[in-house]
Amino acid sequence: MRIEVINTGSELLLGGTLNTHAAWFGRELFALGLRISRQTTVPDGEPIREAIGEALARADVLLVTGGLGPTSDDLTREITAEVMGIGLITDQAALRSIEDFFAHRGRPMAQANLKQALVPVGADVLPNPNGTAPGVYVPPRLNGRSHCAVFLLPGPPRELYPMFHAEVVPRLRALAGIDFPPGMLTLRFTGIGESDFHQGIDDRLACIAGLEFGYCAHIGEVELRLIGTPEAIRSARNLAVETFHENLISEDGATMEETVVRLLNERGFTLASAESCTGGLIANRITDVPGASAVFTHGFVTYANSAKISLLHVSPADLETHGAVSEPVVRQMADGALMASGADIAVAISGIAGPDGGTPEKPVGTAWLALAARGAETATQKIHQPRNRHDFKLAASQAALEMVRRHLLSGSGTSA
Ligand code: AMP
Ligand code: MG
Repeated sequence: MRIEVINTGSELLLGGTLNTHAAWFGRELFALGLRISRQTTVPDGEPIREAIGEALARADVLLVTGGLGPTSDDLTREITAEVMGIGLITDQAALRSIEDFFAHRGRPMAQANLKQALVPVGADVLPNPNGTAPGVYVPPRLNGRSHCAVFLLPGPPRELYPMFHAEVVPRLRALAGIDFPPGMLTLRFTGIGESDFHQGIDDRLACIAGLEFGYCAHIGEVELRLIGTPEAIRSARNLAVETFHENLISEDGATMEETVVRLLNERGFTLASAESCTGGLIANRITDVPGASAVFTHGFVTYANSAKISLLHVSPADLETHGAVSEPVVRQMADGALMASGADIAVAISGIAGPDGGTPEKPVGTAWLALAARGAETATQKIHQPRNRHDFKLAASQAALEMVRRHLLSGSGTSA
């Protein structure tokens, strides 16, 4: 079944609003075992005509969002009816529910809202309990020719999402004759890239019957996506996990920070961070996770040397001799954070984000990391990630969280 999506709205093409509907539909449809063949974004008004005309000729199902409002640039319903050669009539039930919507809120209904009750003759009205614009469903061949089923849906997510689940999903199931959607498993790995998969297991994954797989690389991690029958997914999962066991962050979609928080909870440890070049990003990522308060105690953002000295007791002489981005300094930052916080583990980082400040010995993108833990030797590590500042901070925070994750998995440095 060929499904197309048209998202309308000038704001989507002016960069003002991110078109989240496209990704949302992709996820929702995939859960039903369906996929989008093509997605188009068009500005408000006339451009919708061409997009709908083209899609009707190709698609079995067309989902259109936006442009059902009361204003002059909301033309989706009018243009769809014209393109399909179907007249519009006022649907009395839809009109009453729009009137009720305003009565409930004690507001007068504007004349402009009247047109929201217009529907193509013979189409289903899809109730909108969360707004004024009802949706529209035009079943296949209503106009005697187009085989495509058309859904017109409101733009605001709080109106679209409930309407999709209540009105669109049952009709899609019926149209597609859905029985068993395929499963999907996403494995997240760190410390390896897509090329490692190509060299390591790509050939063997390709031999698994009933499996579709793909990779998606992000900064500091790569996702392996497995789609197929339960047996195919199980074989592929086992192969990938056996081959890259040490690099596996999660197999339930959990992020690096979620994994670190889970491990800290399981081990009963607390964590503190001492950050220079990441400016608090490690603390931010950890505290994005619900329940972080049980395991995260302090985030020191010691950006200036004076802060490293006063808060973490880094030696001024070592700062002078070795520089802020050096093994001795980052080691003292971790040890100092462990002492000052009373946490079980402290991770520290200091690096050169650039674009300035690099030297031949310490080029832009260099960072030193250290992990101090009660009852364990303080460990250090150097990384080199020359990127823009934003991506460097992300990569550096990822390396720091990975150091914590490995420490927690190693089982060393038990609580005092
Ligand atoms: P509309 O139904 O076209 O009047 O859309 C109303 C509002 O819904 C817009 O101003 C956006 O805030 C939101 N919206 C519409 N389309 C999208 C989309 N594709 N992705 C995210 N938000 C959207
Ligand atoms: Mg709009």
